[in-house]
Amino acid sequence: MTNEATSSVVAEVACPFCGLACDDLSVDTGGDALAVVAGGCPKAQAGFARMGVAHAGAGARIAGKAVSFEEAYAEVARRVKTSALPVFSGMALDVNGMRGVMDLADAAGGVVDHLYSEIGWRSTRVVQDIGYVTTTLAEVKNRADLIVLVGTDVVTKSSRFFERYVWNDEAMFEPAPSARRIVYLGGDLNTAPGRSPDGREPEVFDFDCSRMPEALSTLNALLAKQPVRDAAPLGIEIARWQALADALRAAKYSVLVWMAGDFQPSQVDLNINAIMAVVRTLNVSTRCNGLGLGGADGELNASMVHAWQTGYPMRTSFASGIPLYDPVHNGSARLIAEGETDTVVWVSALNDTKQPPAEACVVIAPPTLKLEREPEVFIPVSTPGVHHVGHFFRGDKGATLPLRALRATGLPSAATVAAAITAKLKEVSA
Ligand code: SF4
Repeated sequence: MTNEATSSVVAEVACPFCGLACDDLSVDTGGDALAVVAGGCPKAQAGFARMGVAHAGAGARIAGKAVSFEEAYAEVARRVKTSALPVFSGMALDVNGMRGVMDLADAAGGVVDHLYSEIGWRSTRVVQDIGYVTTTLAEVKNRADLIVLVGTDVVTKSSRFFERYVWNDEAMFEPAPSARRIVYLGGDLNTAPGRSPDGREPEVFDFDCSRMPEALSTLNALLAKQPVRDAAPLGIEIARWQALADALRAAKYSVLVWMAGDFQPSQVDLNINAIMAVVRTLNVSTRCNGLGLGGADGELNASMVHAWQTGYPMRTSFASGIPLYDPVHNGSARLIAEGETDTVVWVSALNDTKQPPAEACVVIAPPTLKLEREPEVFIPVSTPGVHHVGHFFRGDKGATLPLRALRATGLPSAATVAAAITAKLKEVSA
């Protein structure tokens, strides 16, 4: 039995390393690096071990030379102030970090863009065009009797999905969670976790995922009782498609799950539109919901804060003094490629593996990030949920999890850095 007064193990830790934000981890803080001892997955173990160090000796740099944090803040403020259009990208941040960067972008007249916005804005377009009918992970856990995974296995990105939300021992409104029916639409997916605890194999519609629009069109046609002339759409006999349509009609609470990042970028809004058509049709006679999962690297922290502070989705420019939303024009990759920005500031406190774009002159990131090239200014930051407290929106938008501080470090948070640079902006003459 553990003596809580002396144990170095912290229980009920929320994990910030993917969109599921599992909050049942136990983390041993006693060693040089943080060790997940219960409730995690390989990604969580690696993340806490790699980033959960004290960062002794880490400091700010200008042109590769050690400087004080104050000097680095002043240099970033000077660059941002004199820029025609500063772009703040990356944005793998907790809620507070994102709030700080939004204030900085507003004061600097810049653009903010999350590293997954190229996919995210296409999902948002569906909400803008036709609206969403979606559910939460808690509803899946407690109600779903038929789960269709559309072009995703989920587990490649969020490995504990089935463990925590599908094959649970008990559910509030579904008497036998182990009897849930699992269907995969698409090939080359890891379908093993879809096998039920009593050994029932999932049903797999094995086809090239790039042909998902055809698959969803077939399903929508059958649900609408329209003729489908092809005897075997995508090489799968029509009787199987019809059986799936019938199963969806017969289900009490079906859920169509997708991860937009697993769709081809050009098909994201097309596929989600088609999923929503399925949901609309079925809700005339039964219950059916969509579940778009995401949220890794603070994706939802960024989009939520951006929406509540500006009234617009991500990719809004403050250059004119008022927020102007244009998700195509304000994409950071496009602004860089077209030479429309001279100052790219990469900010990422949650991800220490993704390289900033080569054009990033300022990098604000954990010191464990192994940079392929030295930026003009580097400012090391601590990580939310590891070194300091914070808040993290789960990938289904159903909950905001509190993040804990597990390991002391002398490094500032991204929110602190952003606030310091914003304060320095006032001291710089343009
Ligand atoms: S599934 Fe995701 S949130 Fe859960 S422990 Fe693994 S990395 Fe963390």
